[in-house]
Amino acid sequence: MTRHISHDSQMIQPALKLVIAELAKIRETTDSAPRASRDALAQLQFDAPDKAQILASVRERVCDCTKCRHLASSRTQTVFGVGNPDAEIMFIGEAPGADEDRQGEPFVGRAGQLLTKIIKAMGFARDDVYIANILKCRPDMPAGSFGNRAPTPAEMQTCRPYLIEQIDIIQPKVLVALGAVAVEGLLGTRGTMRELRGRWHSYNGTPLMITYHPAYLLRNQSPSEKRKVWEDMLQVLERLEKPVSEKQRNYFR
Ligand code: URA
Repeated sequence: MTRHISHDSQMIQPALKLVIAELAKIRETTDSAPRASRDALAQLQFDAPDKAQILASVRERVCDCTKCRHLASSRTQTVFGVGNPDAEIMFIGEAPGADEDRQGEPFVGRAGQLLTKIIKAMGFARDDVYIANILKCRPDMPAGSFGNRAPTPAEMQTCRPYLIEQIDIIQPKVLVALGAVAVEGLLGTRGTMRELRGRWHSYNGTPLMITYHPAYLLRNQSPSEKRKVWEDMLQVLERLEKPVSEKQRNYFR
């Protein structure tokens, strides 16, 4: 019934912000994250269709976040996420690297360029999908050292609620976790990619495909590894009932 009541979204937006902020607080103090049902979310969407605005309010909180003091003091900026707030697919990586920290956008370095190529090969533009990381800050590095380090389990646990909010708002049809660290951050379970990738998992009812991180493909250039990732992406396309051309089907064969 309430679906048919018209609300003034100017009133709904602040109320929604309050609800989201309260849920975030609860998530920070308990392991069992409170969840909104799909019906409730659909209702919220009906009343407040602008997902971009809701994401922007989460982004503001992320920008000011100092929960991990060491990361807040070492980062250039937070790296929230990028893409279509109505995306059908959401890609989840582990954490920003040096390039992302500099530019404030996930997956813009070498691994990111490869991810963009994969997205395009699937028939999407980068702007069609949504891309985010478990961690919104670059993991700090000892002074004078190069490269990136993986986020720690504690850092991931602290930052995870922001990602969960992004997922709840966007409600993608499919999630794609890139690499074992992203899986650990999202599901809290450790596993080898050999046992995890290539089959469907579920995150809170949303189908989750696990595949190799593009950085792995940069380290291991063999066509057979590229093919494995591609087969995982073909499964994603099939799940979304997207047409797949013969040419696409045969990539990396
Ligand atoms: N690797 C990630 O997991 N995320 C990025 O944003 C960049 C590289």
